[in-house]
Amino acid sequence: MNPDGTLMADALRVNGDRLWSRLMRMAQIGATPAGGCNRQALTDTEMAGRRLLLEWAEAAGCSVRVDAIGNLFIRRAGRDPSLPVVMTGSHLDTQPTGGKFDGVYGVLAGLEVIDALNDHGTATLHPIELAVWCNEEGSRFPMAMMGSAVWSGRLPLETAYSLTDRAGISVRDELLRLGLSVGSRVRRQAVKASLELHIEQGPVLERQSKIIGVVTGVQNMSRHEVVVEGQEAHAGPTPMDMRRDPVRVLADVLPALYEGVAAHGRDARLTFGCIETVPGSANTVPGRLRFTVDLRHPRTERYQALRAELNVVVEKALRRHSLNGTVNCLWEAPGVTFDPACVAAVRSAADGLGLDSLEMVSGAGHDSCNIAAVAPTAMVFIPCAGGLSHNEAESALPRDITAGANVLLHAMLSLAET
Ligand SMILES: [Zn+2]
Repeated sequence: MNPDGTLMADALRVNGDRLWSRLMRMAQIGATPAGGCNRQALTDTEMAGRRLLLEWAEAAGCSVRVDAIGNLFIRRAGRDPSLPVVMTGSHLDTQPTGGKFDGVYGVLAGLEVIDALNDHGTATLHPIELAVWCNEEGSRFPMAMMGSAVWSGRLPLETAYSLTDRAGISVRDELLRLGLSVGSRVRRQAVKASLELHIEQGPVLERQSKIIGVVTGVQNMSRHEVVVEGQEAHAGPTPMDMRRDPVRVLADVLPALYEGVAAHGRDARLTFGCIETVPGSANTVPGRLRFTVDLRHPRTERYQALRAELNVVVEKALRRHSLNGTVNCLWEAPGVTFDPACVAAVRSAADGLGLDSLEMVSGAGHDSCNIAAVAPTAMVFIPCAGGLSHNEAESALPRDITAGANVLLHAMLSLAET
């Protein structure tokens, strides 16, 4: 909204055509026959993508720095160079069969913000910095969000250096081979605020016909493994009441947890992704049952309740059938609540541009989860067709691509001026 209360009708806008054509140009680097992208972290292909980005960044008059874990920082000076930066960014790496928008959209939209400010001769008080985080996907080196984790101090630099890909090549080897810097520590610049623009990677915005997702946080998530020991027996001669059948436990757990998750509202998620019996023979009572449970909820107290219910329900079923078993947590990522002032900047930018928005919580992890640990952070989502991502068919509308970048521009402007 302008100071006189009108919409930002003839105010500053990004150049949507330039942003779209750069997205399509970048998509040629690592293009796959099915229309996607294979530009995995620290490969020659990703390097080619970085070089193209740097050509554009240098033409925009930016200064460039690479830190010791391969994160790239592109800075547009502010009126007061001593002030902390207002940051945006995402990642250029993709899954082996990734799309044209996951990550790269946030990077090129950040560059478009800089170019739009240049086109309009607009100076900001704080410097603006575009970050390209190294190895966000974790598909080549098995640690998602690696660069931002090291930068934020959540992952030791040496641990990241020693990660290896399937060919046994380490992160450190690749940083050296590609001429990126290595060192003994990662210097973290002062950040006033950080915003990341990303495709939603889910179907909610599209289904509700909203253009902008104002992301207030990332949900709590965890993965568990339940193992129940039984006794193998012949399916014919063994009477039902004389079996030690571990599947009985599953028969109790499934309805109890499905009912439980429904009680925690529409935001709760429960997935039994893997269910297996051993030996897995049609005419043998299984000697062992193993299944996984993936639990998610944006609200921490609800999530904790759901997690506790899992243990209670499994233990009750084990007791009822006099069987032994265990519940193990394999992985857990706590939820993130984004900074209210950053979230408000996104919301007012969307309102000011007259764009329909929806407050939402991210279902997937992003570099912003790490950044939020050390700096005020929020995210902006736009719809992607069918909610499809990590897929070569990933697509987004030019209209939404432009709208998201305009929201980013105005949210960053408001954060960079005070
Ligand atoms: Zn991403």
